[in-house]
Amino acid sequence: MHADPSSRRGFLKKSALLAAAGVAASSINKLAGAGLNLAPPGTVSFELPPLPYAFDALEPAIDKMTMEIHYGKHHAAYVANLNKAMEKTTEPFSSPEEIIRNISKYPVPVRNNGGGHYNHSLFWKIMKPGGGGQPSGPLSEAINTAFGSFDNFRTKFTEAAVKHFGSGWAWLLSANGRLEIASTPNQDNPLMDTAETRGIPLLGIDVWEHAYYLKYQNRRAEYVNAWWSLVNWDAVSDNLRKR
Ligand code: MN
Repeated sequence: MHADPSSRRGFLKKSALLAAAGVAASSINKLAGAGLNLAPPGTVSFELPPLPYAFDALEPAIDKMTMEIHYGKHHAAYVANLNKAMEKTTEPFSSPEEIIRNISKYPVPVRNNGGGHYNHSLFWKIMKPGGGGQPSGPLSEAINTAFGSFDNFRTKFTEAAVKHFGSGWAWLLSANGRLEIASTPNQDNPLMDTAETRGIPLLGIDVWEHAYYLKYQNRRAEYVNAWWSLVNWDAVSDNLRKR
């Protein structure tokens, strides 16, 4: 489930360097997440977050092998390649979110792999076994305000996901409290300062073929339709609250 032993060793080595500088090894990611600018460039390692459920937990909508490869190979590679790319940059930063918000200052490998890490970390959280249905509370109100009804929102979001050309993501985002739908190419997202439609990502669906091809082949619409049964609306509401 976690990073392979060699990248773990690299992480520990960097941790030792930070420990020598008075930074507890276990708290590097926490420090970065808390927005404290303590770690010099090239000393922060990103880690694959734990998957909050088993690989087969999202069946039948998303099959076990897709999850094993998507999380264990694709997401793990984004993390490993982000760490490699960050070793080469001298741009200071205080949190992973800050990198994404200022992505135009970073080289393309940071944009691709940092976006990949951010997007997939969000993606695993906004799904759960037995999800689906509709949101409630402030999220439901905000959706109704922006789109008229949940059904209308679902139709428009589905359209954005199905019609996005090539690899990318469809998003529900909050732009100063106003909800919008957008799609982005590659591993871009609305938080990036390069995005056409900018805001805080609340909900996102991965429409890269690696997200659905084993089970659905070219039938992206079928994948998107099944994916709605997995949405963890509590997690999406949390994203709106924390925006
Ligand atoms: Mn993916």
